[in-house]
Amino acid sequence: MTNILVTGGAGYIGSHACKALARAGYTPVTYDNLITGWQDAVKFGPFEQGDLLDQVRLKEVFAKYQPAAVMHFAALSQVGEAMSQPGRYWRNNVTGSLNLIEAAVDAGCLNFVFSSTCATYGDHDNVVLDENTPQEPLNAYGASKRAIEEILRDFEAAHELNHVIFRYFNVAGADPDGEVGEFHRPETHLVPLMLDAIDGKRDGLTVFGTDYDTPDGTCIRDYVHVCDLVDAHVLGLNWLEQGKGSRVFNLGTGSGFSVMEVIDHSKAVTNREVPYSIGPRRAGDCTKLVSGSVRANKELGWTPKRSTLETMISDAWRWHQNGHYEK
Ligand code: UDP
Repeated sequence: MTNILVTGGAGYIGSHACKALARAGYTPVTYDNLITGWQDAVKFGPFEQGDLLDQVRLKEVFAKYQPAAVMHFAALSQVGEAMSQPGRYWRNNVTGSLNLIEAAVDAGCLNFVFSSTCATYGDHDNVVLDENTPQEPLNAYGASKRAIEEILRDFEAAHELNHVIFRYFNVAGADPDGEVGEFHRPETHLVPLMLDAIDGKRDGLTVFGTDYDTPDGTCIRDYVHVCDLVDAHVLGLNWLEQGKGSRVFNLGTGSGFSVMEVIDHSKAVTNREVPYSIGPRRAGDCTKLVSGSVRANKELGWTPKRSTLETMISDAWRWHQNGHYEK
């Protein structure tokens, strides 16, 4: 079996990626420091606890498993926190990724799939964000991911590190089998916070700003189901295995929904009221992030299957009611 090193494999997207890799016949080896991840979420292959800032540990793990490729999910990823603690974002995300990239190259592991973000684009009024849109991030999270993309390009030039960069839009939903799901502590993302508010686990949802230049004044995002997202990663891995070279792909659906529209869909799916109040804007938020991701469809053959808001919310709701992890 072919080993794939999955950093952040104990996290939300990484754990779903491990399931997709195992299903495709690979052995996903999770490397995770468990600061935001959950050992309970590692179900589909071996687990190695470690930090990306620990170069010795990284070297050991590459030597032990000799992975054919890396899928790099491990990162700090909250916009609000990135605004208040930029140093943590630069150190963990950029220095950590540089360590990983160097360890991969030293071990001769030259296929690398990287999870980047639409937050690297920043605000571009009413422009469809395709892969050639200029990257002008508004926060240290997006800036740290853009920097890692640049490191990958330099390592390709110097060391022939082939890479696929996926710029994600907003990921939601959960494994429909209920084996893994989204579970952040603290939670900051819209869909799980809203489900918490619906079933009384928190007082209510705060809508961050209603004075944006959008039809209802709330921010617009492009939501993509986590299972569709990780399917694209397996296709990206196959792309590299076939020697097709380095490439950037947006992963979104091309449809945008406002915060108020997500609330309305959640009411309909759960048949429950969403208690919410209106608050101020959250620093660092872009008005609208919607993908023009025809490239992933045309070149990778990627077609989202579960990425309607109804399916994402109902899969997340099922997980929310039945699934959780313990430290
Ligand atoms: N949002 C909100 N209230 C919350 C959390 C998020 O209104 O408690 C909004 C946020 O301003 C953004 C959208 O929901 O417009 C998605 O935010 P999330 O944090 O889920 O993802 P991000 O877009 O930051 O990656």
